Amino acid sequence: MELSVSTDLVIRKFLHIHYMASPKEPSSNLFKFSDFLSPKFKLAVDTYELACSKSASHSVPDEIWLSLFDGKKPSNNPELSKLRNMLQEIDMSMLSEENTVVATAKADLLSDFKKFEPQIKEKIKNIFGFDLQEKLFVILDIANGFSQGMTLSRNLPMVALSYPAYSRKIISVLLHEMLHTLITDNLKVSLSLKDYNLEEALLDYFAPFGMLDDQIGLRSSKLDIEKHAIQQQNLRPKAASISKDILNIMKEYQNICGNITIWEFLENKGVISQL
Ligand SMILES: [Zn+2]
Repeated sequence: MELSVSTDLVIRKFLHIHYMASPKEPSSNLFKFSDFLSPKFKLAVDTYELACSKSASHSVPDEIWLSLFDGKKPSNNPELSKLRNMLQEIDMSMLSEENTVVATAKADLLSDFKKFEPQIKEKIKNIFGFDLQEKLFVILDIANGFSQGMTLSRNLPMVALSYPAYSRKIISVLLHEMLHTLITDNLKVSLSLKDYNLEEALLDYFAPFGMLDDQIGLRSSKLDIEKHAIQQQNLRPKAASISKDILNIMKEYQNICGNITIWEFLENKGVISQL
């Protein structure tokens, strides 16, 4: 699988605006009052509006993500050039692409992926029954807080990762987001999961820092699944009750991890159906 990683400043700025505008984020309400806010903020809102204006669902179209992904490529499309110019004008205090922290994070992610790719490929096939995509687009940013990831489109294998400089292995956050994109590609699985909180709760048991890390060899000591579950439940309140409900069967799966796929296992346990 080709891992294409961008740390381009233009797309990282756009990603920050996207995080702010995301309906899940409380700060998205600020977008409603942008007229009262600073010109910088107003420009950010206008930039986002321009990006979403072509889509009926008012989300960022895939071609915008792809076009911004390589921020240095000139565009013949006047709207895309305008969007890019607006992004260049927005003044955000962000590390440049050339900054050592940014460059090292990108190099680490690429080299870890290369090093562990055979195991990642084998274990994802055994546990989830999935083949890796041919290509995965990753927008990599440096954050001040936790590691976090986001799947950016339901059609495009593109994910965003925020990497605090002191974080544990970012590759594990990548695995979580990659699994979302693989589930989306696999219609049968995504239909049978139905509830998105079930998908989140389930993936959290594998990555980041879960059973998949053990299987791939990203961690030397065996996962303490109960401790891990509590940590994830605190981070993700919406999925917490499902996570608690499936803890005991996930403990059972930990002992046979990869001998049968998680989908067969969950079907046998009656957690999901119609696979
Ligand atoms: Zn997730």
